[in-house]
Amino acid sequence: MDVETILTDSPAEAAAHLNRGETVAFPTETVYGLGVDITIEEAVRKIFLAKGRPSDNPLIVHVHASEQVGEVASGISDTARLLMQRFFPGPLTLVLCKQSWVSSLVTAGLSTVGVRCPEHPVAREFLHHCRHPVAAPSANLSGKPSSTDWKSVHEDLNGKINCILRGEHSAIGLESTIVDCSTEPPRLLRAGAIGLDELRAVVPGLLGPAAIEEHRRPKSPGLKYPHYAPSAEIRLCGEGYGTCSGGKKTAWIGLSHPPEGAAVTCRCGDAGEYAHRLFRFFRECDRKNIGIIFCEMPAPEGIGQALRDRLQRAAEGK
Ligand code: AMP
Ligand code: MG
Repeated sequence: MDVETILTDSPAEAAAHLNRGETVAFPTETVYGLGVDITIEEAVRKIFLAKGRPSDNPLIVHVHASEQVGEVASGISDTARLLMQRFFPGPLTLVLCKQSWVSSLVTAGLSTVGVRCPEHPVAREFLHHCRHPVAAPSANLSGKPSSTDWKSVHEDLNGKINCILRGEHSAIGLESTIVDCSTEPPRLLRAGAIGLDELRAVVPGLLGPAAIEEHRRPKSPGLKYPHYAPSAEIRLCGEGYGTCSGGKKTAWIGLSHPPEGAAVTCRCGDAGEYAHRLFRFFRECDRKNIGIIFCEMPAPEGIGQALRDRLQRAAEGK
């Protein structure tokens, strides 16, 4: 243990830690974030150290209101403004041209910056008390499933970060939708709770995600790293995928009927609940030494798109 990790329920107290240059995990509607003051380089470095995050993976900058976006981004296009009007605050990150003062540590050397304005009331109060915009990736060890509750943050980062602002289990449970607005037309970089159809209702020409090969020399550098993976092996199942059989101690998560013999199961009522519970279920399976987790593929509708993306990446991660 390097540092004492303080737990608090007070957004103001958590913000006071952050304003002093410390690392603070906080709840949002997508997943928990690990934040620092964007203007304090030494603090930004602490994030990469605590998470074991590769330095070429940029951080998302969190703001408390749309008006604050201009502090970190420049040349904001009309289409970006339309998306902000419709979806801020909410589970959407926009990639915009950065203001020159924004540290290249935050953007991993890119000329763009990812900006998000969360909707979660505790996150908003916390950000309101922070003196500057907050650079924050997900609050988990690099490569592990994102944390969707404060206990998961504690499990990964106790002794490595200064403070955890406790809140509820993240309502959505998957990371934000990312749209690149630094080029016209904008392009979806990462699927999330806000789907392509919803985005296209606002910006009809918005492009879908690029082919996987492009992610290998990616616009969104984080997409090339293994993500969302528990220690257990992930196998996709359901229509068009494999069956649920394997020699090891197994678990199952999905929407239909759990197979017989699975040691741990999680049957969800709909894709929203599946997303909400997925990452915590992965962590539970690791604690219970599960060898294989069978994940039923949901239909590619609504948040099902983002879920399929995360499940596929988790399956590739091993
Ligand atoms: P995380 O918050 O842990 O999901 O990580 C943030 C993700 O946002 C990274 O993996 C990047 O792929 C993406 N991101 C952040 N900033 C940018 C940017 N300027 N351009 C493209 N993608 C970005
Ligand atoms: Mg992450």
